[in-house]
Amino acid sequence: HLTLGIETSCDETSFAVVADGRRILANVILSQTREHRRYGGVVPELASRRHLTNAVPLLHEALAEAGIGLDDLDLIAVTRGPGLVGALLVGVALAKALAWALDKPLVGVHHLAGHIHANFLAGPGEEPAPAPRLPAVALVVSGGHTDLFHLQADGGLEWLGGTRDDAAGEAFDKVARELGLGYPGGPVIDRLAARGDPQAFPFPRAMLDDDSLDFSFSGLKTAVIYELERRGWRDPDRRAELEAHLPDLAAGFQQAVVDVLVAKTVRAARQVGARQVYLAGGVAANRRLRRDLAAAAAAEGLELAYPPPVLCTDNGAMIAAAGYAAWRRGRRDGLDLDVDPDPPLDAWL
Ligand code: ATP
Ligand code: MG
Ligand code: FE
Repeated sequence: HLTLGIETSCDETSFAVVADGRRILANVILSQTREHRRYGGVVPELASRRHLTNAVPLLHEALAEAGIGLDDLDLIAVTRGPGLVGALLVGVALAKALAWALDKPLVGVHHLAGHIHANFLAGPGEEPAPAPRLPAVALVVSGGHTDLFHLQADGGLEWLGGTRDDAAGEAFDKVARELGLGYPGGPVIDRLAARGDPQAFPFPRAMLDDDSLDFSFSGLKTAVIYELERRGWRDPDRRAELEAHLPDLAAGFQQAVVDVLVAKTVRAARQVGARQVYLAGGVAANRRLRRDLAAAAAAEGLELAYPPPVLCTDNGAMIAAAGYAAWRRGRRDGLDLDVDPDPPLDAWL
């Protein structure tokens, strides 16, 4: 069974072919990061236009890489939200056109269900794909979301908590911008932090002692800005001095984010009696988060899984995997499928 997965929710255009919802035959990703970089973030109108011009060539590239033709597809899965409406529209319109022309079933996918499903994929030559272990807790940390979910054995999904302001990835991006590191900030901070001292700048751990499973990261960003101002490092003439401290600043900021994410994830796992923790979303690529969460999980007797970095950020394969699971449980969308900036998410399997 072959699923085509289409992802255009933000600034990655991606098409994937996935066999039986688990095995990746092709996963072609075109990131527009370079084009958006000079604006310091994603420009929605530009993203839509790039999706529009790149979509069809990338579709053909994915089919060629999988060694199949359009007629071989059994299911069309597409991100319907959350995301930028204009960007989502390009993928959804193309998915509907394909479903209609090929007379194949169509499923609209929740983008975060996709991020979670990145944990259950096997790359080419990798076999078998990991089977879900339940009940589990999933920490979805991405550019727009920071959410803890309870993945129930019957396929149900319960939201346990999330950010009250900025998402974790957004915090990385905003802090990187303040440090003059460009966009996207996550990978640069990850790299710089590796040679910094995480204790040199003790930034605040917001909501660590709060009983909820909620997060808050906007105060942390403010704390970094305040530290820069206090030291006079916003002055362009003192750029060299700032640069000497960048690894420590990056490490301190990153550790503050990671400490809260790890503590609340472990707390969530205890609360629902989970045996397994899944990490998902672009920030799941962060090496300190992977390392610290692995250590904390081991200490609790929990299993931790995370996707390879290329499957943490946006891609079509994760959408195909989630779409296939939804199709298996009977989900079908009609040609009236529409984009939805905030669709419901109550089932994941
Ligand atoms: P959403 O999934 O919420 O709609 P998105 O699709 O834009 O948002 P993703 O593609 O999942 O987000 O992830 C992009 C985010 O991940 C960016 O904020 C980026 O800075 C962050 N990121 C990527 N790699 C790393 C890393 N190594 N460390 C920390 N953050 C990272
Ligand atoms: Mg992106
Ligand atoms: Fe995403």
